[in-house]
Amino acid sequence: MAKVSVPRGSVADGSLPSVCVVCGADAPHRRFPGVGAPSLAWVLFSPLAGLMTFWVYVLFASRSGRAGGLPFCDRHRGYWPRRAAAIVFGFLAMVVLMVVGVALLPPEQPGVLRKPNVISGFAGCWVLLYLPTFVVLQLTATRPTGKTRKSLVLSCASRKFAAAVEADGGQSGVARPASGGR
Ligand SMILES: [Zn+2]
Repeated sequence: MAKVSVPRGSVADGSLPSVCVVCGADAPHRRFPGVGAPSLAWVLFSPLAGLMTFWVYVLFASRSGRAGGLPFCDRHRGYWPRRAAAIVFGFLAMVVLMVVGVALLPPEQPGVLRKPNVISGFAGCWVLLYLPTFVVLQLTATRPTGKTRKSLVLSCASRKFAAAVEADGGQSGVARPASGGR
């Protein structure tokens, strides 16, 4: 797994090499052009909001038909949406369970310990299950983890993709030293 800096322009116009970002296989699909857009970048990478907003973006962006984006193979076409669904719906379920669990607690009486009900017990279990799952899904995912003015940093990308982008960068003039003119 590699960390790779991808020119944002290539994300937007879909000119990245056809190598799957996740596994390095041949990638006929281009998805999520928005990850390269400056308008989205600030919210995707703000330290607190970024964790969840990226996945929310993926869920909603999967329906947009815009051209461009990152390359995915047949097998990994649904890679981000699947993770996004698990992370976002798992999080929503956790919030709902906690709210319902707390709402159903019996009124507080002095000297009496409040007994947790079934829902709040289940909410507790859900939190214990969800948080480690979230951390694992988050840390092992191929995902954007940073940006500069011109490029997007992807973590846990396939080595083949990283190598292809670096090789391509020389030709398309993105990571080019100041010598050649175009
Ligand atoms: Zn793949």
